[in-house]
Amino acid sequence: MATTTALGNFIGGELQEGGPGSIDLVSPVTEEVYGTSVDSGPEQVDAAFAAARTAFATWRDTTPGERQLALFRIADAMEARADEFAALESRDTGKPLGSLVQDEILVSVDQIRFFAGAARNLEGRSAGEYMKDHTSFIRREPVGVIGQVTPWNYPLNMATWKFAPAIAAGNTVVLKPSETTPSSTLLLAEVAAEFLPAGVLNVITGGRATGAAMVEHRTPAMVSITGSVRAGMAVARAASSDLKRVHLELGGKAPVIVFDDADIELAVEGIVTAGYFNAGQDCTAATRILVQEGIHDEFVAALAEYARNNATTGAPDEDVLYGPVNNADQFARVAGFVDRLPDHAVVETGGARHGDRGYFWDATIVSGLRQDDEAVQQEIFGPVQTVQRFRDEAQAIEWANDVEYGLSSSVWTRDHGTAMRVSRALDFGCVWINTHIPLVAEMPHGGFKHSGYGKDLSAYGFEDYTRLKHVMSYIGA
Ligand code: NAD
Repeated sequence: MATTTALGNFIGGELQEGGPGSIDLVSPVTEEVYGTSVDSGPEQVDAAFAAARTAFATWRDTTPGERQLALFRIADAMEARADEFAALESRDTGKPLGSLVQDEILVSVDQIRFFAGAARNLEGRSAGEYMKDHTSFIRREPVGVIGQVTPWNYPLNMATWKFAPAIAAGNTVVLKPSETTPSSTLLLAEVAAEFLPAGVLNVITGGRATGAAMVEHRTPAMVSITGSVRAGMAVARAASSDLKRVHLELGGKAPVIVFDDADIELAVEGIVTAGYFNAGQDCTAATRILVQEGIHDEFVAALAEYARNNATTGAPDEDVLYGPVNNADQFARVAGFVDRLPDHAVVETGGARHGDRGYFWDATIVSGLRQDDEAVQQEIFGPVQTVQRFRDEAQAIEWANDVEYGLSSSVWTRDHGTAMRVSRALDFGCVWINTHIPLVAEMPHGGFKHSGYGKDLSAYGFEDYTRLKHVMSYIGA
């Protein structure tokens, strides 16, 4: 593949080339370099925040209706160019092209439309006289300039979750996509520029140092990141130096509790799909399966067979469930977890690289694991599922909650009482019952514990990008 692409930054409504360095873009399908992006330094970070600060002075005064219209137009323009977005996304990630428009590009379009609606629907307590002769009311205001950092698993979709609520609420944005997947976010900035004043949405590229420079910059009033716990903790530490607001979505290790009375067919299909979709590079992926002892052996056999037949991987133009792992580091990380499996682990299917070119990994199911094993405790973020055998409800809940993550979980049972009790006991920001992984724009996504804080999507996510002001007026004679 020839090196044809040289991506720039999008600052102040314009594409700007050049920076102190460049980063190679590597195809996860062929492992070949196909282009470069800018490794932005302090000058680019300063320029982007200056543009966002200038734009905030007027964008904050737009009406919700004006912001809604801009977002609707952006969504329409993206929909019209959905194939172009999908092609860039697949080039950077290796995702299967067959389902990409439907599964991700149009989902992003829908979520932008949701936030366009949310812009006009802010709720608050009613104004009132809480002290004699004084009227109080609440104002919801934008926070200011926001610095946002996204990962490589769903590049356009993660950019959407960040920029759309921020802009809908009247903030302006500097957004940095992952260094391995910047293309679709840069196209988003270009498409959006037709409908937004210059500087409302700025996209700069770069790696960890660029992200860190954004968080340390004096201009943003808030920083929001989706990525690893390590990165999230670094962001929270850096943001504390001048008390920026922090919004963190940091991955997970979702428990999937399958009781003896579960619908096995439904569970097997749902859990395999939710484990291997996007090569398991999903912070809500169904990774940590806990199966009750009465059906354990039968269930594991069915799971492995279903995965062998349906959790297929291959190049973007093939009819497969998932593509490669995104990058060489992540590939090595997945391989490392499998290499280090303890002697008591049983590899039921997979366990190895797929093919000899590209970062493809076969769907891997490992049973016989114990609660303190590394593969049970740490986020693998790849096409690997672990299985543990549990005795009763109390043990399932104890093991499910015994990890540092707290993003999402699922429970599979035909018994309503079991489902309700376990949903209450699970220490996770989302509990699915007899399903795993679907999400909707209207409902919040976000975790507890080391999975971070702050919500994406929903009215709650939108409110995270606003600040609350109390105005009190003396009305006595
Ligand atoms: P990462 O957290 O290092 O990178 C995510 C984004 O954060 C990138 O844009 C990166 O440039 C930026 N970043 C990294 N350090 C930063 C810092 N100190 N300040 C500001 N920005 C910073 O993720 P990774 O190294 O690519 O992946 C490692 C692991 O992270 C994965 O194995 C997986 O477990 C987890 N992960 C989780 C998600 C998620 O959706 N929650 C996404 C990607 C990766």
